[in-house]
Amino acid sequence: MNENEGKLIDDIMQNALEAFDKYNKAQKDLRASFLNEIAIQIELHREKLVPVAMEESHLPEGRLQGELSRTVNQLKMFADLVQEGSWVEAAIDNGNPQRKPMPKPDTRKMLCPVGPVIIFGASNFPFAFSTAGGDTASALASGSTVVIKGHPAHTHTSEMIFEAMKIAQQVAHMPEHTIQHISNGSFTVGKDLVQHPITAGVGFTGSFKGGRALMDYASARKTPIPVYAEMGSVNPVVFYPEYLAQNATELVKKLAASITLGMGQFCTNPGLILAIDGPGLHQFIDGLKAGIEAAVPQDMLHRGIHDNYCQAVKKIRDKKDIEIIATASQLSTGIQAMPLVGKINADAFLENEYLQEEVFGPYSLLVICKNTGELKDVLTQIDGQLTTTLMATENDMSVHQDIFRVQQKIAGRILVNDVPTGVEVCSSMIHGGPYPSTSDGRSTSVGTTAIRRWVRPICYQGFPQQFLPDELKDTNPYKIWRLVDNEWKM
Ligand code: NAP
Repeated sequence: MNENEGKLIDDIMQNALEAFDKYNKAQKDLRASFLNEIAIQIELHREKLVPVAMEESHLPEGRLQGELSRTVNQLKMFADLVQEGSWVEAAIDNGNPQRKPMPKPDTRKMLCPVGPVIIFGASNFPFAFSTAGGDTASALASGSTVVIKGHPAHTHTSEMIFEAMKIAQQVAHMPEHTIQHISNGSFTVGKDLVQHPITAGVGFTGSFKGGRALMDYASARKTPIPVYAEMGSVNPVVFYPEYLAQNATELVKKLAASITLGMGQFCTNPGLILAIDGPGLHQFIDGLKAGIEAAVPQDMLHRGIHDNYCQAVKKIRDKKDIEIIATASQLSTGIQAMPLVGKINADAFLENEYLQEEVFGPYSLLVICKNTGELKDVLTQIDGQLTTTLMATENDMSVHQDIFRVQQKIAGRILVNDVPTGVEVCSSMIHGGPYPSTSDGRSTSVGTTAIRRWVRPICYQGFPQQFLPDELKDTNPYKIWRLVDNEWKM
C-alpha cells in the first residue's frame, strides 16, 4: 500500500467514526426510515440495476429480479426490527439500598452498536449479500456505520447500489459518511481496512482462504476484533435407508435441481451426499445420471471462480477412487461450468480429508457407506457446516436417532426432506455454522439475528435516569419488551 492509499483509508475510517458518533444516537424511528429509504431507492433503480448486474455476474434476469426483491425485503425487515425496538434485549434490575448484608445496585443492560464495521461484498449474490445486502442492512440497523468494500466482479452494480444508498442517506437526513464505499480495492486495501484501529468488526462471504486471511489480520491487531466470515460448506445430505428405498425418484428430482441451481454457486449447494448401499441406491444413481446429463452448462460468476472450479474438478477426475457417475452431455465453452457428480466408497473418502472441501460450482460427491456404523464414522469426521439434511421417513428418524444427533452437532441448519439451497429470510433462520463453515458458529448472516454480530452488551450501573439510554429509562418511552426484575414487561 502506498502513502496515498494509507491516507485514504485513514480518512475513510476517521469519517466513519465521526459519523458513528452521530448515527448511533439517531432515534430508532430515524434509523428505520433510513433503512426503508434505502429499500425505496434500490427499488426505484431496479430497471437500471438488473441489466448491469446481469452483464457483470452472468446471472439470469429472473434470478436477479428475485434477488433484488429479497434485498429490498431484508432492508424493510431490519427497519421493522429497529422500529419495534425490543431487539436490544433490555434488562433492568432495580436497586435495593436496604438489602442485607449488601445493598443491591441498580443495573441495566442493553445491546449497543460496536462502531464502524467493514463489509466485504460477496461475488455470488451481487445484491443480497453485497453492497446493500444483509451484512450492511443488519450493521446499519444496529447503529454501526459501514464501510463497504465492493466486490471486483460487479464493480458497476456495487457503485450504482451505493449511489442509491447515498440518496437515501440524504433523504433520511443521516450523517454524512454513515455509509462509505471502496471500489477497485486490493488485498492490501482489505487488510488495511481490517487492521485500521477504528474498525470494530468485519463481515465477509467468500472463500475459506479469504475469510481465514481476514480472521488472521483481525487477530494480529493490537486490539483484535470479531470477523464474521461465511466461508464454505459442503452441506451433507444423508439418505436414510427407508426413505431411499421408497423415494429414489423423488430424490433424483430434488438433488439434480439443487446441485445445478445457479450453476452451484451457492454456499448451501449440496456438495456431499451420504447413503448406505441398499434398496433404491442404484435407481437413484441411474436417475441422477440422466438428470445431470440434461443440465445445460452456464457461465459462472467470474473467470477466477470458473478457473477454481475447473482445477477442483480436474483433481476429482484424476482421483482413482472416485467414479464419475454423471456429467452434462452438452459441452461447456468459455467460463461455463460442467455439472459433475462423482461417487466414492466411505473408506476411501475417509482417507482423503480434502474431499470434504467445498468445490464451488455444480458438483456433488456421493459417498457410499456399507452400514449405519460407517455412515456415522463419516459424519463424525465432517467439519462444521452451514446445513445438513436428513432425507428420512419418521420411522427412519425413530430408528436412527444416533445419526441425526451427529448431524445436529455439525451444522447451523438441519433440514428434513428438503434441499439446502434456498435460504428463507426470517427471524428463525440460521445461516451460519461451526468453523470452518463460518468463523463464529454462534452467529448468522441471514435473518434478524444477524444484527447481533454488530453489537455488544453494556451494563449501566447506578445511572441517573436522564443519562440512561431511552431503552433503559423507567418510563420506557419506546414501549419495548424488557426484562424488569426477571419479569417480561412492556
Ligand atoms: P474471495 O476470493 O474469497 O474474495 C472475496 C473478497 O475478499 C474480495 O473482495 C477479495 O478482495 C477479498 N479477499 C480475499 N482474500 C483476501 C486476502 N487474503 N486479503 C484481503 N482481502 C481478501 O471470493 P470470490 O472472489 O468471490 O471467489 C473466489 C472463491 O471463493 C470461489 O471460487 C469459491 O470457492 C469461493 N466462494 C465461496 C462462497 C460461499 O458462499 N461459500 C461465495 C463466493 C465465493 P479483492 O476484491 O481484492 O479480490
